Amino acid sequence: MREFNLKMKIYNTLTQKKEEFKPIKAGELKMYLCGPTVYNLVHVGNFRGPIFFNFVRNYFQNVLNYKVKFVYNYTDVDDKIINKAIEENIAATEVSEKYIKEFEKDFKAVGLRVADVNPKVTEHIKEIVSLIEDIIKNGAAYVVDGEVFCSIEKIKDYGKLSHKNIQDLIAGARVEIGEKKKNPLDFSLWKPAKPGEPSWDSPWGKGRPGWHIECSAMAKKHLGETIDIHGGGIDLIFPHHENEIAQSESANNKNFVNYWMHNNFINMGKDKMSKSLGNIFTVRKFVEVFNGEILKFLILSAHYRSGADFSDNVIEHAIAGLARIYSSLAQAEKMIIMCQNAGFKYQTDLTKVLDPSGFGAKLNELWPKMITSAEDDFNTPEILAEIFNLVRSFNNLLKPGIKPTQELLNSAQKFKNEITKVGSLMSLFEKPAVSFLKELDDILLEQKNLKREEIQLKVDARSNAKAAKDFIKADKLRAELTQMGIELRDNPGGTEWEVRK
Ligand SMILES: [Zn+2]
Repeated sequence: MREFNLKMKIYNTLTQKKEEFKPIKAGELKMYLCGPTVYNLVHVGNFRGPIFFNFVRNYFQNVLNYKVKFVYNYTDVDDKIINKAIEENIAATEVSEKYIKEFEKDFKAVGLRVADVNPKVTEHIKEIVSLIEDIIKNGAAYVVDGEVFCSIEKIKDYGKLSHKNIQDLIAGARVEIGEKKKNPLDFSLWKPAKPGEPSWDSPWGKGRPGWHIECSAMAKKHLGETIDIHGGGIDLIFPHHENEIAQSESANNKNFVNYWMHNNFINMGKDKMSKSLGNIFTVRKFVEVFNGEILKFLILSAHYRSGADFSDNVIEHAIAGLARIYSSLAQAEKMIIMCQNAGFKYQTDLTKVLDPSGFGAKLNELWPKMITSAEDDFNTPEILAEIFNLVRSFNNLLKPGIKPTQELLNSAQKFKNEITKVGSLMSLFEKPAVSFLKELDDILLEQKNLKREEIQLKVDARSNAKAAKDFIKADKLRAELTQMGIELRDNPGGTEWEVRK
């Protein structure tokens, strides 16, 4: 247990380098992540942020023992929501409330810890208006016909996050006829109401907030004027986060965010995708066809700042990887029961394991290695590689006919404990191993258009043929099953089978 840590390195988009993390207040983390605009079912790509920042949050909280406050908002007023409401002839709030519920369902199905606060824009209009008033007061915004604009010329260092040359942006910006802005890069803080749109009273007349102001207002309300970490996808760096900085720093006269962390995209459909997924890769569809554990594993297999591909191949690879880890966990559970039935009781003595200098050493290294990888800008692929390393080492211990011993019990139990302890930080490997493997098999059978019963019939027919010493028939059935991608394991108690992964 460490109170707080001085070695943690985080890549900061603002400085474009890995920096040592220093909290504003020792032992506390204030973290904000831009959330979804709630107007439809979200795509798998939208979950890269939530899945990755779930790990960041858990790491600070459970490994570093930080007091963490994690804020993840809902954008529940926006052009897209309004358009959908018009399309469906219902109120905008009906659209947003419906899709907040749908998002919560997906979030739960994927299996992530909920944020400490999920603020909604429509519940923060008072704070938004007051923040805009502060920006005007400080001379960084102006009002034209009921619309409030942030004046980027008044913002010191505008462009510092996105590392964009502002003069180039201005030169490239299109100036619309009848434009009310003084500078083409100025952006709306408050928009006047249009008929039929949701609107609120303000000192500038009835209207609604511009997009960027909401996060500045909600971060301030729930976390304060300066926060430790602000996260989001790289597509939000400009203009959204650049504008958040402009708003918050001109309103509060304080540095807004110490560490800006941005996750990269998921590249969709580079390779062939199966028909079952169609062309819309929603999280809903993904958990229906596959499951949340596969999505988390797939996303965390790539470093959050690298692009990640999403294709049949990548999904298959994730299933195979998960199956390897869960198979070992299932074996560990089996060994634990076998040893307990033989009267042994688990001892935490780390020297009493099988192969202490090989497997035992790896077992003891997993946690510190995980820390080293996590503290190097949250290198999740490296953590998963270390888990695979330990899995291989454990599998090597399990020779056929292994007998129950004190060392085997300690090894299996400690192996399971360490994998699940590291896994829980990523919300992975927490499912009951045997039933999850069966779930993976069912997914693969479905993909192959095979039925569990039809496989079982063939397996039973082979066992019967073997019992009747009809080895030609038994071998033929085995070959057929192999052809179908089914692997058989003959145990003293009978034949087990699984889908090859
Ligand atoms: Zn935001």
